[in-house]
Formats: sequence, C-alpha cells, structure tokens
Amino acid sequence: MFDGRDIFYYDTKQVTRSAVDKRAHEDRPEVGDLRLDPLTNEWITVAHDRQKRVFLPPKELCPLCPTSNGRETEVADKDFEVVVFENRSPSFAKPKDGWKLAALDGVNTQTPEAAGRAEVIVFSDKHEGSFGTLSLEQMRTVMDAWIDRTKEISMLPYVEQVFPFENRGEEVGVTLNHPHGQIYAYPFITPRTEQMLRVAQAHFEKNKRPLLTDVIAREVKDKVRVITENDHWIAYVPFAARYSFEIHIAPKKFVPDLAELSNEAADAFPAIAKEVLQRLDGVFNIQMAYIAAWHQAPVRTGRDVLGLHLQITSVRRQPGKLKYLAGSESSMGAYIMDLKPEQSAEQLRNVRL
Ligand SMILES: [Zn+2]
Repeated sequence: MFDGRDIFYYDTKQVTRSAVDKRAHEDRPEVGDLRLDPLTNEWITVAHDRQKRVFLPPKELCPLCPTSNGRETEVADKDFEVVVFENRSPSFAKPKDGWKLAALDGVNTQTPEAAGRAEVIVFSDKHEGSFGTLSLEQMRTVMDAWIDRTKEISMLPYVEQVFPFENRGEEVGVTLNHPHGQIYAYPFITPRTEQMLRVAQAHFEKNKRPLLTDVIAREVKDKVRVITENDHWIAYVPFAARYSFEIHIAPKKFVPDLAELSNEAADAFPAIAKEVLQRLDGVFNIQMAYIAAWHQAPVRTGRDVLGLHLQITSVRRQPGKLKYLAGSESSMGAYIMDLKPEQSAEQLRNVRL
C-alpha cells in the first residue's frame, strides 16, 4: 500500500491482482505504548496517534469500498472478494528489532512499544451488510482469510495472542459501515484469556479433558440453552451468560484456534453462523448491534487446554434499550443479567427464519 502496509486478497478463483495503490506516500503513525496498570498488572495500550480516523463516512467516501472512477480507497483494485490489510491507524504495530515485553515490576515497570499487529478484514466489496448477510460461499472465504491470517500472524516473534472480531452497529462503536472485521494480535496474553487459561489449566490437570468439552457436554445434556447445531458446531446461550443475548458457537471437536480447524469443520461454520445471526436479528426484527469475538488459545501456551469458540454478545436488551456496562460491570467486573439464559435461548429458537 502507499504507506508500506501489507494487503492480501483472498479469491476463490484464479485471478491476477496487479492494481497499484497510487496515493502519495505518507508516513505511518507512531507505534503506541504499553503502560502497566500496577494495581492489576494489566497492560493498557496507549495508541495516541489514532485521532485522525474517519468517522462513519458516507458510501461515496468509504475507504473500504474498492477503488473506482479514480477515487482511491484502501483497496487499489476495482473489485475483490475478501481483502485483509494492516490498519492505517493501528493499536499495535511492528516494533523495533529485539523488542521484549517488560518484566512486571509494579510502578517501576518499563513502558514498551505497543508491539503486535492490527489488521482490517473487509468481508465484501459491497458497501452494505455484515458477516451474517454474506452468501455462505463468501462467509467461507472470510473463514479462509481468518485461518490464514491466524497462521501467519502467530509466527511473529512478538505476538502472543491473535484475536479476530467483528463489531456491528454504531451502538458498539463501529466507525465504518462497510462489512468488515478486525484482527488484533497482542504482544501479551489479554486479561480475559489469562483468566480463562488459568481455569482451563486447572480443569485439565484434574479431569484430563479440555474444559470446553465439558461445557459443551453440559449444554447438550441440559438442551434448554442450545439454539442450533450441525455435525461440527453447536450454538448455545451459555449457562451463565453475561448479556441478554449472548451466544457461543463452538466446534464439537476441540481445537485451540482457527488454524487447527479441519476443512470439514470450516466448511460447516457458515451455515450455523448465518442461522444464528438471522435468529439474533429476528428476535426484535431489527439489526442487532453485536460483538462477535473469536476466542483462541494463545500462540505459545495452553494450546491443549483452551478451546476455540466464537462469543457473540449483543448490547441490546429490548428494542430501544441497550445494556450499558455500568457500575457493577465496569468497576467490579461483576455482571448482572436481567433475563434467564434459558428464556433468551427460547426466544432465539422461536424466531421463524
Ligand atoms: Zn464501502
């Protein structure tokens, strides 16, 4: 790209892509910092150079649409299937050689560069839609891009964890309406994953089975929170869901990450994802704002105990009512749910497709 970023085209057909990004060269923003919160030993990323980001541009100014009629966008070609490129305003970026995460030392901890990678994955060259409105074939291509990027990014020496996700809806902070997701690659294990890892490790030592396998077995046995399933995947509202509409989609056979999925499992994902997302929109017959987050095992540790699954959370409780992370959730990390998970599963199952 014009500023030296990488771009990857994913195509289902043999095509030669030779379009050149003709925009004038621009220097890339500075890499941010990682500051340690000494009260919790959590890393906070300070990406101070991101304020220039475009905010909800109209279609004719969309940077994710293909280049056309001389209007140059992030994608130089005139069409594409799925495309991935490094974020123009990244939260994480390639650090200087020899980068190392600073050792934890309370208030004396050093402030390393925010090493890592931030990529944008554009799901389609059409401006309208979201992951769930793509064709099954197109969703499968997105899946391939997620798998490929997970494999590639996992090889970077300064990356510990790869996190593909999609935010949908302005309610969850989307700044571009074009169907797209992001991939964050962190140089540390995130607090949530660290906690899940600790729990999964203890479970594995005691039971010699991955925790997620037992979680799925409980959902299958209880039945009431299962929304749908196929040969390779199961979708359910978790027993202790944190949001009125929280859905997990997990592979029935344990794998640590997208890169380890079998072809058959990858092939079976689009259908169940599409059904689940249609059910989510069908509950109130509105486009539900959601966050779809791929939980993957870290790159170097816990790969036999922490299982891949997709967590979809919607901030909408009812039409016109959003769930805000208020006092208890924001300050204490203690969630209060106002709907029984069994009820929300039933509402989702009852949606007529
Ligand atoms: Zn667009």
